[in-house]
Amino acid sequence: MNDINFECTTCGKCCHDLRLALTIAEAIVWLERGGHMELICEAIPWPVEPEPGNAQAEYKRARSSPAMSGSLPVRISIVLAAAFNGACPNLGADMRCGIYEERPLVCRIYPAEINPFVVLTPENKACPSDAWQKTPLQRHGILVDAATVEQVGQSRRANQLEAPLRMQVCLELGLNHAALANEGFVMISPDSDALLTALRHVHAAPESQDANAQWTFVSNRAGTLETLLSVGATGHLAEPTAAGNSRYHGFFLPS
Ligand code: SF4
Ligand code: SF4
Repeated sequence: MNDINFECTTCGKCCHDLRLALTIAEAIVWLERGGHMELICEAIPWPVEPEPGNAQAEYKRARSSPAMSGSLPVRISIVLAAAFNGACPNLGADMRCGIYEERPLVCRIYPAEINPFVVLTPENKACPSDAWQKTPLQRHGILVDAATVEQVGQSRRANQLEAPLRMQVCLELGLNHAALANEGFVMISPDSDALLTALRHVHAAPESQDANAQWTFVSNRAGTLETLLSVGATGHLAEPTAAGNSRYHGFFLPS
């Protein structure tokens, strides 16, 4: 049960139309190579600390940063994402990765899941059926491939350790809008030079974060906004089209 074998066929299907979550060091290299990055922001209302033993809440807490929206305590989750539509800029005509030895951690881990609360489902992955035949990847629902286990651990540690740095990057760039978690994302495409400068700065000189930094909710649903405002948060309706370098991606139809 839940036994999964996997061996990459190097078909290159997974290297298209992606938002690849990168570490700070990987993001610096991605931009230095001329790649494009986005910051993907969501806010979780966090009026009180959850009871100990709530593993999902602890996981979210460890990967987010404290802030305020009006008088409502929130936690801000920020993903530094390499963004491309169509083929990855590093994908060659032969479907081989042109930076294979230096490819991001997340590319090494695929198709395994980094989030421990997401079940690996081969049907949801881009890999062809002949990729799921040979080397053991998972047994009884547990990852068993040693390299993948190590890389997943590395990715989780970096995501946690760098949460305050991602917040610092946003604040240095004056970014403070986020979607309500599980309802959508605010996706920001900052100027690449400005982002690179901010990333290099936080990488070299991390600062302690301001837990009172003000963030504003964005939603495409009037009811959500009304509820958030009623509990002291600040927010506004999403623009129907992208505004400046920011756009709202909602999971639900506007209402
Ligand atoms: S960096 Fe390489 S492995 Fe990662 S998406 Fe691009 S081509 Fe694929
Ligand atoms: S889609 Fe799967 S099999 Fe194809 S290159 Fe990506 S990881 Fe390998």
